[in-house]
Amino acid sequence: MSSPQKFGYKQSHLSLERLLSGMPLDEWYVKTTNRQKDLHVSSCYILPPKIAPDDGRCLRFSDYDEPSRIYAEFVTMNAGLGNRGPMKGFKQHKWCQLCIKRNRKEKLNEHHILFQCYSLRRLQNRHGLTEYARNLAGLEVEQIYKKYWTDNLPSDVISGRIESADAIRYVYINTVKALLRPQQKVILKNLAIQK
Ligand SMILES: [Zn+2]
Repeated sequence: MSSPQKFGYKQSHLSLERLLSGMPLDEWYVKTTNRQKDLHVSSCYILPPKIAPDDGRCLRFSDYDEPSRIYAEFVTMNAGLGNRGPMKGFKQHKWCQLCIKRNRKEKLNEHHILFQCYSLRRLQNRHGLTEYARNLAGLEVEQIYKKYWTDNLPSDVISGRIESADAIRYVYINTVKALLRPQQKVILKNLAIQK
């Protein structure tokens, strides 16, 4: 008679076999990781595909410096815009706060800030983003954004893109902070009156 423990083991072995559907475990792992990665447009769909179970999936910029940090933030959709978590001292926002001021509800994320936000249009023009997207008309913004970071171009071109994205992020974050801190404006106004 077999023990319940053994039976449990057999069951989990069977379900594992079903999961793998005949694939070797390492092949299944690589495939599943890549499928999950592509599905998550909000975080990891831009990361380079996994080739082997133990590869490092190195990013294009992976030094311990400022440009590499900024690159990783934008590539993993984690640029600190206040959508995935609150900016320090503020609430978390799922909608673009610049568009809200124009009575428009637009999802806040990196795609929106770099390619879509009307309030940032002049900056997008200046940094060549409007033209970049125009040349890819027909693609979804997620794909345009992915291409922008993964284009096979010289490093200095990609460095320029990192600077552009950082500049636009800086303006978005600081404008939002100013907009959402009315009390500070009042204090500044009062100080001006006292002078
Ligand atoms: Zn906007």
